[in-house]
Amino acid sequence: MQPDLECVNLTRRFGDTVAVDNVSFEVPRGSFFSILGPSGCGKTTIMRMIAGFLEPSAGDILIRGGSVIDTPPNKRPVNMVFQHLALFPMMNIADNIGYGLRRAGMPRAEIATKVEQALERIGLPGIGERKINELSGGQKQRVAIARCMVLEPDVLLLDEPLGALDLKLRERMKVELKALQAAFDTTFVYITHDQSEALVMSDDIAVMNEGRFEQVGSGQDLYYRPDTAFVAGFVGDTNRWAGRIERTEGDGIELRTDSGMLMRGAAHGRVLSAGDRAEIFVRPEAIRIAHSAEELSHFDNQMTGRVGSILFNGAASRIIVQDSSGNGEIEVNLPQSGEFSTLTRGSEVQIGWSGAQGNCFAAAVS
Ligand code: ATP
Repeated sequence: MQPDLECVNLTRRFGDTVAVDNVSFEVPRGSFFSILGPSGCGKTTIMRMIAGFLEPSAGDILIRGGSVIDTPPNKRPVNMVFQHLALFPMMNIADNIGYGLRRAGMPRAEIATKVEQALERIGLPGIGERKINELSGGQKQRVAIARCMVLEPDVLLLDEPLGALDLKLRERMKVELKALQAAFDTTFVYITHDQSEALVMSDDIAVMNEGRFEQVGSGQDLYYRPDTAFVAGFVGDTNRWAGRIERTEGDGIELRTDSGMLMRGAAHGRVLSAGDRAEIFVRPEAIRIAHSAEELSHFDNQMTGRVGSILFNGAASRIIVQDSSGNGEIEVNLPQSGEFSTLTRGSEVQIGWSGAQGNCFAAAVS
């Protein structure tokens, strides 16, 4: 099936700054696509070009196969939800949702039907007469989405819409937004700097850095199979060591960390050679903890350390281990069995992990 949205070699310069640098991607119909990246990487600039608020310096934007480059924003089959929602506080909920339809000249009875259908879809039936300021933050979010969706856009753009909400509501809205996208069966393009938002909601995620897409894939692809050091460091928590490669054998790597430890990792098909500067990334859940070194003898990376801090969080608890040989702090997941729940700050622990779990990348600067 034709994708709903296609950006081809999209570029935008501001003077000497290349905010978006030759970015190409496709968003399949009915999917939830996120652009994830740090502040200033170019996310909003891409959205503004898709919406038509900003002209690209080069490249093309196609919606359902047709270029919209020469189409003014109000004629493009896209709509946008902003962080601050831009609802009209003086109007009631129904008038807010029906605003775009009224402007398009739709008869009143038809608007009333569409508004009521939209209220049902967002789980707020029958409250059209109420005032906007009677709604909770999460309900306002849903109304803002309904106001866009009654216009039946091919693509809905969402620019950090959860950014202004408190943490608890944000957690709930992640699940709700995904359900709303499925209920409306519309393509959502969502931008965020929050990896957990992107991971929970998206079918596909583009990780963006300095104007370029580093990798596009599912959350699992990005988390388990990162293509670049940036993605490995940005998506999910990870331990990270820099050093120089001493030896390679097949896919295996031996890296001397800058703090002097010999660490084993894996190149996962990337070309790395002895003498190269490189970084190894190890997820906290890949590291095992034991009472004695013998229990970890089958691992090719082992360390002795002391517990620096304990981050108790039920089944997702972690400790921070201070390595005794000066290799810094290492985050380690605690087993869910509770076996290590009596550890205290300063307890000595043994940790170990397999070299295959150490994802090795060439360092950006040698
Ligand atoms: P944030 O998450 O902080 O909103 P972002 O990833 O959306 O960041 P953009 O707002 O797209 O980033 O900005 C990308 C780059 O382009 C930045 O270096 C920014 O300073 C620059 N930029 C954006 N808009 C303009 C403008 N109108 N004039 C000049 N530079 C701009």
